[in-house]
Amino acid sequence: MAPEQLDLGLEDVWTPSGPYKFKTKDSRYWKKSAEWVMFHDYGYLRRLLDQKESKPYKTKDPLHQHLEWLLARGEDRPVYRTCPVCQENPIKYLSVRGSDRDGYSIGLSFAHCGQDKCRGRFITDKMPTDIPVVFSSYERFFYKTDKDRFLTVLRQVYQIDESPITANRAFNFFSQSSR
Ligand SMILES: [Zn+2]
Repeated sequence: MAPEQLDLGLEDVWTPSGPYKFKTKDSRYWKKSAEWVMFHDYGYLRRLLDQKESKPYKTKDPLHQHLEWLLARGEDRPVYRTCPVCQENPIKYLSVRGSDRDGYSIGLSFAHCGQDKCRGRFITDKMPTDIPVVFSSYERFFYKTDKDRFLTVLRQVYQIDESPITANRAFNFFSQSSR
């Protein structure tokens, strides 16, 4: 390493130059991008990455590398929307109440920043579950209606307006620097 190079621990941080497009007809999301799929079928990408990781490999193929990057970005997006209780800190959790069988109450009005005084507002006789407002939490829900409601909350928290998600729009969202 040249002496003028600073070791920032960033050597292995790989970033893509554009969205990953599924190019073969046999892929479920042919012609769609992995970034688009993040908003529509998160579990599919999770399983693809799990498959890649479960097999021995010498070097990661482009999809493997891309999925690793993308799924990590689903966990560290900057939040600009503030806690509806204290109006100070960014939203971190959603207090959901319900069950897999009956579904959940999911909405931005149940969001909070994680401080005791803010989460306390949602505690009544039934303990709610605090789930982090990140993309992987999408997998915690069983029913499509719950998944869709959670996705609506994600879009509100990350301030993604309701116009359609395109490959480039989704890519730009996941390319913003982390929190
Ligand atoms: Zn708060």
